[in-house]
Amino acid sequence: DQSRQVILRTKGVGKMFGKFVALNNISAEFPKGAITSIIGPNGAGKSTYFNLLSGAFAPTNGTVEFEGRDVTGLPQHRFAHMGVAKSFQITNVFPQLTTRENIRIGLQALVSRYDMWRPRARLRELTEQADELLARVGLWESRGRTAKTLAHGEQRALEIGMALASRPRLLLLDEPTAGMSPEETRTMMDLIVKLASERTVILVEHKMKLVLGISDRILVLHHGELLAEGTPSEVRKNEAVKRVYLGQ
Ligand code: ADP
Ligand code: MG
Repeated sequence: DQSRQVILRTKGVGKMFGKFVALNNISAEFPKGAITSIIGPNGAGKSTYFNLLSGAFAPTNGTVEFEGRDVTGLPQHRFAHMGVAKSFQITNVFPQLTTRENIRIGLQALVSRYDMWRPRARLRELTEQADELLARVGLWESRGRTAKTLAHGEQRALEIGMALASRPRLLLLDEPTAGMSPEETRTMMDLIVKLASERTVILVEHKMKLVLGISDRILVLHHGELLAEGTPSEVRKNEAVKRVYLGQ
């Protein structure tokens, strides 16, 4: 059964902002357990597609399926409950709190009522879980620093740590290396590969070079259309893609 190997699928999705067609008729499948990257020049519609995939907004046309179920137009929290998490924006990191406290807040969102009756044990558990997550995203040594003092790359890693707190089965990342130094970029790409060994990852990235080596599949958007899709080597050889990325 093919639907079991596909975690997410869009059928003919489109998005209009007023009369402007930001995304037109995109049909694609995202294999479970894989890294699928969505690339394309600025304004191609990547973030718009990302928002449809993560349930941030509903498409104007078409349908979104999660594990074979039609989830078109469901509110964001329903996507979260299904196990879909996306990287938070910078503003979702609490700048005055420590790195560890930030992660703990992400974890606390999952606390049940019962847990409130044993706060001390719960705090200990939360701290242990937070430390585990901090280690996973490479921030354990920075656990006591206030988030605002972290370098840009560390803040983005912290956002991913917060997204992981809900134990998502599908992690969506929109340009996680934006504004990073080459070294921060390498660290982030290593982290993404590591995280992808445990869950499905959908990665939006402006720079094709960054995703060629790590992606199982690549979708190329251009002017709101699906220009090409395939394995990295197929996409790299594609003439239309070469034209769009000429000189990059
Ligand atoms: P990308 O992420 O590939 O750079 P976006 O998905 O952000 O592209 O944007 C695609 C197109 O849709 C752009 O031309 C952008 O200006 C337009 N757009 C995006 N969001 C909105 C919005 N909320 N209202 C109007 N136009 C938008
Ligand atoms: Mg974008």
